Amino acid sequence: MMVPTEPRTYGNYIDGLWAASVSGNIEASINPADRHETVGYCQKSGQEDLDRAVAAARRAALIWRRLSAPARGDFLFKAANVLESRLDDIAETMTREMGKTLPEARGETARGVAILRYYAGEGMRKHGDVIPSTDPDGLMFTTRASLGVVGLITPWNFPVAIPIWKIAPALVYGNTVVFKPAQDTAITAAKVVECFAEAGLPYGVLNLVTGAGSVIGQGIIDHPGIDGISFTGSDGVGKKVALGAVARGAKYQLEMGGKNPVIVCNDADLDLAVDAVISGGLKSTGQKCTCTSRVIVMSGVYETFKDKLLHKVRQIKVGPGMVQDTWMGPCASENQMQTVLSYIDKGTAEGATLLHGGGRMQGEGYEQGFYVLPTLFENVNPDMVIAQEEIFGPVLALLKVDTLEEALNVANGSRYGLSASVFTRDVGRAMTFIREMDAGLVRINAESAGVELQAPFGGMKQSSSGSREQGQAAIEFYTSIKTVFMKS
Ligand code: NAP
Repeated sequence: MMVPTEPRTYGNYIDGLWAASVSGNIEASINPADRHETVGYCQKSGQEDLDRAVAAARRAALIWRRLSAPARGDFLFKAANVLESRLDDIAETMTREMGKTLPEARGETARGVAILRYYAGEGMRKHGDVIPSTDPDGLMFTTRASLGVVGLITPWNFPVAIPIWKIAPALVYGNTVVFKPAQDTAITAAKVVECFAEAGLPYGVLNLVTGAGSVIGQGIIDHPGIDGISFTGSDGVGKKVALGAVARGAKYQLEMGGKNPVIVCNDADLDLAVDAVISGGLKSTGQKCTCTSRVIVMSGVYETFKDKLLHKVRQIKVGPGMVQDTWMGPCASENQMQTVLSYIDKGTAEGATLLHGGGRMQGEGYEQGFYVLPTLFENVNPDMVIAQEEIFGPVLALLKVDTLEEALNVANGSRYGLSASVFTRDVGRAMTFIREMDAGLVRINAESAGVELQAPFGGMKQSSSGSREQGQAAIEFYTSIKTVFMKS
């Protein structure tokens, strides 16, 4: 295990150089498991830093897009190898910076390696089609054009995997990048960018600018030198991205929140469903966009399911993510903890029944960190705030229904549509769920969180702008189709 050393100051990475921001302002990144530990310092950049990064990315774009796609893929293979060789260090930094447990952080970093290798291979796959022409002497086909410079704005909850699932397709499809990570996980982001630098990526192809969302994020939205914006985060900020991008004709892609339901039918394997709700709802302290937050249970099995769920929730070990037997870490920041606690208060005030948890962890030094107990509510009505708004913390709401039709009505009664699961042994019910559930990720007898990297990822309704990330689907955002007709 890494021994915490004197906190290092990380620069921006612009045009192949690590440098302080023009203002020289820096910001501390602290450990949510112990607010007295500083993990490192990052730059608090301004518009001038962003302008320099965009200018570097524009210069590099002219060269990068002329490189063959397999050659661009080779850089991703190299970056994957560097990331793999630093997996332990980067995972430990992630745990110290945002609190998820070490096994989860290791798993996420390994996922980053796999995503890089997937998109490296993508450089060798077909990017176009030959289309029959009515002209017997003509050849008609499609090819792909890169967008140019893309701005990537990412959240803190997957500080390695989300940046990589944007950076890798952006690069392999011929774009250059200006990357603005969440300030809460800027140190982890800098360590990811170091891997690309060490892989020998040409100068200016990938640029990192850290700073406040309202300054650097907004600056990316408004910047005339940025051709496309891929954003993952809250729907509030997502709307700003959409409005700003439309106003200046830039392409954009949004992946936002969820209020993900799990339906447990009378014929479900209840032990399987309980394990999936615990893992899908409370792993990562409930801070995944695909986390289960509404558990909709049919009345025939409600009491049995509730008892089994409570039994398992009571066994959850909460603590620092670096400690071996910790199952659930702290909330990622004080802000996040306060948001979660305020939702717990709203749930109680609205008349939901608290079955477990419902506050901060006390004693044994827990007050140094941002720990919230795993929390379970029942007697939740579908229109209560805790059944409608994304909490993004370890809070589960149990709702009782009588039929699958009623369950689907409740499940669909949300402005979000990211991920949803059903637990049933009946193929007919599963088929009804697949057809009727308004969600981009629909899962049968599996937890709501988790999608393999080679499959398209994204939501419906206010969870997404409708485009998809991951897998080959990513090509649709990072390129546009050129239709070619040729005659000798
Ligand atoms: P957030 O507050 O929206 O922040 C996301 C990013 O936007 C951060 O880099 C943030 O910078 C930046 N930002 C903040 N204000 C901005 C502005 N005015 N203009 C431009 N950028 C701005 O979200 P978060 O709290 O980091 O992440 C949690 C949310 O992300 C949840 O809603 C979750 O569901 C969603 N999420 C969705 C997915 C998905 O794929 N659907 C995956 C993961 C997370 P700073 O934080 O540095 O200020």
